[in-house]
Amino acid sequence: MRSLENQVAVVTGASRGIGRAIALSLAKSGAKVIACARNEAQLESLAAEAAESSCSGSIIARSLDVSDSAAIATFVDEVAGEHERIDILVNNAGITRDGLLMNMEDDQFDDVITTNLRSVFWMTRAVSRLMMRARKGRIVNISSISGIMGNAGQSNYAASKAAVIGFTKSVAKEYAKRGITCNAVAPGFIVTDMTSVLPDGVKSSFKDVIPMRRFGEADEIASVVTFLASPESSYLTGQVLVVDGGLHM
Ligand code: NAP
Repeated sequence: MRSLENQVAVVTGASRGIGRAIALSLAKSGAKVIACARNEAQLESLAAEAAESSCSGSIIARSLDVSDSAAIATFVDEVAGEHERIDILVNNAGITRDGLLMNMEDDQFDDVITTNLRSVFWMTRAVSRLMMRARKGRIVNISSISGIMGNAGQSNYAASKAAVIGFTKSVAKEYAKRGITCNAVAPGFIVTDMTSVLPDGVKSSFKDVIPMRRFGEADEIASVVTFLASPESSYLTGQVLVVDGGLHM
């Protein structure tokens, strides 16, 4: 599938995990992907992997801390200067700082809200100005099943991910007439660094309640994001696609 040929895509949090898989999937579909995160070495190895593989598109590594609003503004200006437009934005960067509510520190709450939510606002506001001018665009925000179901020990994270869903629907309504779609993907448990830190007991108890009895792979999120970024999803906006092996239904 090469339906994204000549499309310029920005993917945040692309150095590893789900974001890395999304960047590769978009590049395989022909997009020119600007992959951002803080870890430049991981981004460079991702760009090299795309160059060495049979990708019809390409990956360009760009260092970016999404918790820095000024850095986001500069980044979007630079990308607009170099590539003229951004057709696809995937807001994927995210962190967890889990803990029970009674013990949660202010910075534990604020850091998660800044990286997972405020960054989505800053990035989408800046990029959508370019999309408005072009009268087309695809925005995909990575939420989480925790934002839908809640999760003990994740009041900060679940709040940020639920807010991303409200944000997604509002942006979808604002831009629907302008050729810009905005959707969210809510993954369940996916095998990445984020979930590797969970104790084995927690992992197996979650597996017991997932109807498919397994965690998902990053590629299984990437394929859904690539569909949402493609012309094939042209009549789909304001939706939350839950990709969780049947956990929430
Ligand atoms: P991960 O393996 O921990 O990767 C997180 C990515 O976010 C990394 O590329 C990291 O890059 C980037 N990131 C974090 N803080 C950043 C910052 N301040 N600026 C720029 N980039 C930043 O996590 P993942 O599992 O792939 O998660 C990706 C997204 O999916 C997140 O939004 C997460 O909440 C969501 N999600 C994951 C799961 C799951 O089960 N894994 C489930 C539901 C939702 P650097 O460290 O290099 O900056």
